[in-house]
Amino acid sequence: MSQSAKRVVLVSRPVGEPKASDFRVEDHAVPTPGDGQVLLRTIWLSLDPYMRGRMSDGPSYAQPVPIGGVMEGGTVSEVVATNNPGFARGDIVLSRAGWQTHALSDGKGLAKIDPDLGPVSTAVGVLGMPGMTAYTGLLDIGRPQAGETVVVAAASGAVGSAVGQIARIKGARAVGIAGGADKCRYVKEELGFDDCVDHRDPGLAAKLKAACPKGIDVYFENVGGAVFEAVFPLLNAFARIPVCGLIAHYNDTEASAPKWAPSMMRNVLTKRLTIRGFIVSDFAARHADFLRDMSGWVREGRVKHREFVTEGLDSAPAAFIGLLKGANFGKQLVRVGPDKA
Ligand code: NDP
Repeated sequence: MSQSAKRVVLVSRPVGEPKASDFRVEDHAVPTPGDGQVLLRTIWLSLDPYMRGRMSDGPSYAQPVPIGGVMEGGTVSEVVATNNPGFARGDIVLSRAGWQTHALSDGKGLAKIDPDLGPVSTAVGVLGMPGMTAYTGLLDIGRPQAGETVVVAAASGAVGSAVGQIARIKGARAVGIAGGADKCRYVKEELGFDDCVDHRDPGLAAKLKAACPKGIDVYFENVGGAVFEAVFPLLNAFARIPVCGLIAHYNDTEASAPKWAPSMMRNVLTKRLTIRGFIVSDFAARHADFLRDMSGWVREGRVKHREFVTEGLDSAPAAFIGLLKGANFGKQLVRVGPDKA
């Protein structure tokens, strides 16, 4: 095949915030599938905060992307040629094809997407990894009870928006924390959270306290940093803290001094707090429950979601750099190619 394809590779490991020069867009010929392989054409590329970790080679739960390697990522892709009896031309699949327009696969790890569940882009959003992260972290670790208060930061984003809406479905009071008035308005007025506080407001701690008059029973941790410091004193006895992400720290260049670790641990003891980190794959066994419940809630309009789309593979590096500092407003996606013809 002489048609041309594109991929984004990692050029250098960022120190602090990633820069455009840490990435390179390369042109190459569209590959030809061998025996047992399929050729995938990317429609949607999901950009997610975890990718910052894959750019570094420090200790982690996952392997880094090698220098010169294609950036990792989840995609919604179309099978455009197949030598694999398990897949037909035109199948739409969830894949880990990464930041590229085309990819070969032996079929392992591909999952066919049911277009009846919703627009196929939701397979990397509210009905995919971020939605499942919200569902399992909140329900299996946070375990909100009716009447309790659930707080979540990055509340307009892919994970946080679902956390607050599920909390409401379970009868809890949902309080979001988000960056800026527009995001806070959306979180309250469109997503139906009970309240939302702007983390850029210098009065964050006092405003959060006012928004949580009965304290906090579940804090779904997406952020860390100053937000965590504002939340911590408001935690009630027996509060649960699913630790999902620490995006405020992903560009840190050194470990911050644990200046208040002793007082934090004293509170963990006296308030009998449960703090549990998790990776969504820990809960793989819950996938069928998640898909059943979440697709129902989305269909009934009880869980709303918002996509933030940039156009073309070339836009991925800048969009990713923006995601780490709140430039996205909703689930960050790149439209790499047109929907299936
Ligand atoms: P989002 O769509 O929420 O986008 C990231 C958001 O983080 C930004 O829009 C910004 O929102 C917020 N943010 C960035 N920097 C800061 C900061 N310093 N302080 C406060 N907020 C900040 O991303 P996701 O929903 O995909 O991910 C949310 C979190 O969940 C991340 O920490 C991610 O790593 C984690 N995650 C963990 C998984 C797991 O398996 N454990 C799986 C998936 C995600 P704003 O403008 O409101 O500040």
